[in-house]
Amino acid sequence: MAIRQIRTLGDDILRKECKPVKEISRRTKQLIEDMFETMYEANGVGLAAPQVGILKQIVVIDVEDGNQYVLINPEILEQEGSQTGPEGCLSVPGKHATVTRPAYVKVRALDENLEEYELEGEELLARAICHECAHLRGELYVDVMEGELMDNEEEEEEA
Ligand code: ZN
Repeated sequence: MAIRQIRTLGDDILRKECKPVKEISRRTKQLIEDMFETMYEANGVGLAAPQVGILKQIVVIDVEDGNQYVLINPEILEQEGSQTGPEGCLSVPGKHATVTRPAYVKVRALDENLEEYELEGEELLARAICHECAHLRGELYVDVMEGELMDNEEEEEEA
């Protein structure tokens, strides 16, 4: 495993559309392992492949609910309600802003074995799913934030 360099705001790669994954090679498995390691090292709760410079539709999420989610080619099927709160991003280090997201989402994705599954999330998990899926379309939370970027006062969760 290896820590990968996290691309930050201003890097063009964060603005590109990611391609769907068609097969899981050894390189892809390595990428997924590295993404988890990179995310944990940076104290994040989610990371998308373009954040480490790879334009593939791969997301990893760990909101400390006891699961390590791998979402490949994710597609949001349903969303309900709304939640407004602080959101950060490992690609915008040291900052956060207020972002409104759905309170609930249901997503369909492939796991690391290309098995299809559905995942439902509320609260932080719903926020993380929406945030990471947006990365795959080249979108960042700064595009949809309310007000200005604020400096983090202490360790805040970033995705
Ligand atoms: Zn992010």
